[in-house]
Amino acid sequence: MVHQQVKNRLKISPEEFLEGYRYIEEAMNQSDSYEDALHHILKYFDRKLTGTYSAIMIVDEKKEFIQECISNGLTEEFKKAFFGMLIDKGIGSSATSIRTGKVTFTENISNDLRGDVFSDIPDLLKLSSCRSIPIFDYRDNEVLAVFTIFSKQSHSPTNREVEIVKSFRSLLTLLITNYIQSELMRVDFPWIDKIKEPVSQADEEFKCELLKAIENKEIKPFYQPLYQMDTNQIYGFEALARWDHPQKGILPPNEFIEFAEDHHIIDLIDDLVVEQACMDIQQLKERYNQDFVLSVNISAIHITQLDFSKKLKNILMKTNFPGELLALEITETALMQQIGHVSKTIDQIKQLGVQISIDDFGTSYSSLNYLKYLSVDMIKLDRSFVRDVIDNPVDQRICKTIIQLAEDLNLKLLAEGIETKEHYEIIRNYGCKIFQGFYFSHPVKLEEIKQQVAKQLV
Ligand code: C2E
Ligand code: MG
Ligand code: MG
Repeated sequence: MVHQQVKNRLKISPEEFLEGYRYIEEAMNQSDSYEDALHHILKYFDRKLTGTYSAIMIVDEKKEFIQECISNGLTEEFKKAFFGMLIDKGIGSSATSIRTGKVTFTENISNDLRGDVFSDIPDLLKLSSCRSIPIFDYRDNEVLAVFTIFSKQSHSPTNREVEIVKSFRSLLTLLITNYIQSELMRVDFPWIDKIKEPVSQADEEFKCELLKAIENKEIKPFYQPLYQMDTNQIYGFEALARWDHPQKGILPPNEFIEFAEDHHIIDLIDDLVVEQACMDIQQLKERYNQDFVLSVNISAIHITQLDFSKKLKNILMKTNFPGELLALEITETALMQQIGHVSKTIDQIKQLGVQISIDDFGTSYSSLNYLKYLSVDMIKLDRSFVRDVIDNPVDQRICKTIIQLAEDLNLKLLAEGIETKEHYEIIRNYGCKIFQGFYFSHPVKLEEIKQQVAKQLV
C-alpha cells in the first residue's frame, strides 16, 4: 500500500532526479551569480523538454506585477515586453496559475480571451501554447514565481513535462528565494521598500516581552542526546532553546527564534543558550568523568558579527569548557547566503579548536563547493530525507549519496530525525555512525540528561 503510494507520487525515476539534482547543484557552484545559475538551469529544462522554452517569472508579494522574467531561449525583446506587466494581462496561463496556485495551460495563446494586450509578445517567437507551474515559498506557501514552459506547437504540453518541473520545484524554490534576496536587493526596486513593513504595535510589545525574558533567563537550553553506534554511548548533546514562559509554559523555538532573527536580537539568545549549555555540560563532564561534545545552534546573522569569535572565547574561558568539545551548528542555506563574511570568522573559530557542523544538510541547493574551502568537521543529514527513507527510493539514494560524500571528504556524519528502529537500521546500514532523534530521546531538561548518563554507566 505504502509502496503503491510512493510509486504514484514519484513520476520521474530516482536516476533522473539525481541527475537533475546534480546538474542544479553544479550550476550553483560554478555560476558567478544566482541569475547566471538560473539561466543554466533553464537550459537544462529546455533540453529535457524538447521543443520548448522555459522562463521563470518572479512576482511581487502582492502578485500584481511580473517583476522580472528570467528566461533562457526567449529573446531580450520578449523579456522587455514582459517586464513590469500586470499579471492579469500577462500570458494567460501565468496569470491563472498565480491566482489559483495550480498547474495550468493555455492551449492556444492566440485564441486566449485576454489576448489583445499581449498578443505581440508570443508573436516575437511564434509561440502557440504555454503551461505554468507556480513555485511556492516553502515557509508560507505564497507563490513567489511561476515556471512557464512555452511551445511553438499549439497543443498542451505533456504530463511528463510538468512532472519533471514539479520534481525539482523545491530546489527551484530555494534558488529563487535566494535570487530574490541577493540579486534583487542590489537593484533599486521601488517595491522592495514595501516589503519592509513598519513595525507593528504587537511586534513592539512581543519584542519587549522577549527582551525581558532574555534578561530573566527564561530562555534556556534543553538537551537532545547524540548517539554513537561504535561505542553504544552518548556522543554528545545538542542544546535547543526553549522559553520557560511564566504563563504559557515551555515554548518551542519556532515561537521566537525567527522573530528574534528578524528583530536583530538573536545574538542575545544564542549567547545565553551557549553560555548556560557550556556550564551545564561542563558540570556533567566533571560529575561523570566523561567527555561529551556539545552542539549549539548559531544563527548566520549572528556569526557574521565582528566580535563573534572574541565573545565565544570569553564564554569558553568563563565556563572552563574545552573548545575541542564545542560544535557550532550553522544551517546550510544561511551559510551560503553569508559565505563571504563567514569564512574569516570560521578561521578564527577554528583557532579556538571549536568544531563546525552543517545543520539540515542537503536542504539547500548547493551543498558541495563550500566544503572545499571552509573547514567543516561534521554534516548533519537533514531529517526530511530520513523521514521517508523506508519506502522512498529517491530519499534512499540521497541518504546513501550524502553518507558516501561525508566518508570521501573525511567528515563526521550525523543523521537527524531518527524516529523508529527501521530508520535507525536503514541509515546505520548505509554507514552512518552518529544518530539523533526521538527514537533515542526527545530534547529534555538537564535533570533528565543526568539520569540518562547515569543509566549508561550502570
Ligand atoms: P535544528 O537545529 O535542526 O534542531 C533539530 C530539531 O529537530 C529540534 O527542533 C528537535 O526537537 C527536532 N527533532 C529532533 N529529533 C527529531 C525527530 O526524530 N523527529 C522530528 N520530527 N524532529 C526531531 P526544535 O527544538 O523545535 O528546534 C527547531 C530549530 O530551532 C532548530 O533546528 C534550530 O534551527 C532552531 N534553534 C533551536 N535552538 C536555537 C538556538 O539556541 N539558537 C538558534 N539560533 N537557533 C535555535
Ligand atoms: Mg541544530
Ligand atoms: Mg537540523
